[in-house]
Amino acid sequence: MSIRSNRLTAAEYAHNFSDVHPPFESREAALVEAERCLRCYDAPCTKSCPTSIDIPKFIKQITTDNVKGSAHTIFQSNIMGAGCSRVCPVEKLCEGSCVYNLMHEDPIAIAKLQRYSTEMAMEKNWKLFTRKPSAGRRVAIVGAGPAGLSCAHVLAREGVDVTIFEKEAKGGGLMTYGIAAYKVTPQFCQDEVDYILSIGGIDIRYGQELGNNITLAQLKDEYDAVFLGFGVGLARQLNIPGEELNGVVDAISFIYHLRTNELAATAVGDRVIVVGLGMTAIDAATQAKRLGAKEVTIVYRRTQDEMPCTQVELDLALLDGCHIEWLAAPKEVLGTDGTVTGLVCHRMKLGEPDASGRRSPVPAGEEFTIGADMVIKAAGQMPFEGLVAGLDLQHVSGKVNVSSSATNIEGVFAGGDCVNGGREVVDAVQAGKDGAAAIMGYLGLSVETRKATRADIQPIF
Ligand code: SF4
Repeated sequence: MSIRSNRLTAAEYAHNFSDVHPPFESREAALVEAERCLRCYDAPCTKSCPTSIDIPKFIKQITTDNVKGSAHTIFQSNIMGAGCSRVCPVEKLCEGSCVYNLMHEDPIAIAKLQRYSTEMAMEKNWKLFTRKPSAGRRVAIVGAGPAGLSCAHVLAREGVDVTIFEKEAKGGGLMTYGIAAYKVTPQFCQDEVDYILSIGGIDIRYGQELGNNITLAQLKDEYDAVFLGFGVGLARQLNIPGEELNGVVDAISFIYHLRTNELAATAVGDRVIVVGLGMTAIDAATQAKRLGAKEVTIVYRRTQDEMPCTQVELDLALLDGCHIEWLAAPKEVLGTDGTVTGLVCHRMKLGEPDASGRRSPVPAGEEFTIGADMVIKAAGQMPFEGLVAGLDLQHVSGKVNVSSSATNIEGVFAGGDCVNGGREVVDAVQAGKDGAAAIMGYLGLSVETRKATRADIQPIF
């Protein structure tokens, strides 16, 4: 069988999984880029950031060597600003809105500048926030992913005592377990979680799963409010013959294994097919290639005009040598002796637009087969519908219904992927902030926006 681990040398693994977007090489390089910013009034970049980071302000602070103030500006709006600077699809958010695009020039390298400030803050362990005196209130949060950590940090700043219940052994959620290792390393994710927790007042209990080790009734009894940020996680099935064959895996499990083991320990085939073209599909395809697969083919049922990933992500896959099979949908996984040998696909064509306005793919009447020894399913994730229904939460197909972050159960709030079905990390961070604000209102407390102190704005160079 050609699916095997330990394909490359240690040096090759290190090279293939090195930082995809390296930081500035020097302080001078960061300052030169920061000086390009026009500091637009009504900055479109800030409007495009789901967490509304004051981008012209933090860039201006860099130009005056006030990196501490710059990091404070970022973290005040997005406590996962360091991670987001590495994983946000900035080409469709802040950088995609930068006015330089209108002048047909490169947009300001906002993510790289954000990384410059936030990584220095983490490296130097700058304490940019202090807790208010105890508010005498306790809040339980389910899930230590971006939504849960963001919610926890706002509440901790306001003097609320927070306990997070996390089913995994580490915090960070999707950032730690579901994103390509060449974007964020496990060590970086751990450092980011530690930095967030350094404010104090947040206790994380690992290995605690809602519906298994803990119940919502218990949390409601023991805490003044509950925030649910447990995300999504179940891989969508293809529901085609042969899906049970050896060599068929889902992208979530593939990336999870890669993130929780040595790179050399993750098995990959010689000829790999990835079904789907979202961000997770790209992360699975590129990492399969970087683990040593000889051929990687991504099968997508629509055309480039409808693809869910960004052009930057697609280019990353193409540069890694992945092949894209457009207008192709899986029909059957072929196998011999219980092991994958190929994938039969329908050739598709685009039909009439669906309710969302996207043209629906329909079979064009042809079939073709791609040889493979591994098929990675990346057709999306599903909410935890059974869990949500069992908790008596109102929901739509497993996505929790909320109104201003409040669920139908009094004192229980929710946000992030378990509500929206799975968006970007930065969306979950904002949902956590919204949840914290709603909880503060429910508890009769108010959220103050802390102003930067003199210590924050002193230049550090
Ligand atoms: Fe600076 Fe671009 Fe934002 Fe304008 S749109 S403030 S130039 S980053």
